[in-house]
Amino acid sequence: MASERSVEAMHLLDPNIVRVPEEGSAGPCLLGARCRGCGNVVFPRMPVCPACLRDDAMEEVEIGRSAVLYSHTIARFAPAGFKAPYFQGFVDLPEGPRIFTLIGSGCRVEPGVLHDGMAMRLVVEPLADTPENGSVLTYKYVPDAGAEGQVSHA
Ligand SMILES: [Zn+2]
Repeated sequence: MASERSVEAMHLLDPNIVRVPEEGSAGPCLLGARCRGCGNVVFPRMPVCPACLRDDAMEEVEIGRSAVLYSHTIARFAPAGFKAPYFQGFVDLPEGPRIFTLIGSGCRVEPGVLHDGMAMRLVVEPLADTPENGSVLTYKYVPDAGAEGQVSHA
């Protein structure tokens, strides 16, 4: 890593919403919940199903390794601890939920770089390249170059 910070100093913003498994596995994922009663999937996890209101049927599921970009915008003003401009958007997960996300730092922040409907993949990286958030890891999405190649002949 180019960062001077040690990996040991890195920590997840919220271990209840994202899982980073051991090297060589399927990679990071989000932690959602699926209702055994009606099949509804939510993120983040909830104790009660918002679709059928059962309170004893939600079980943890690993979701969100891939997604489809629903909408995006460039934020020109950053809150404390962030740097502008940066991309933010909503992605649709194949399991059902539409979630808010930041876009990974490997993606140039310029108009035309992202297209709604494009395939995305989950990454885990620092919340922002700032002293306040540089050691705080969270989930983001970036364009899935491999998937783009597969659909570009359409
Ligand atoms: Zn339900």
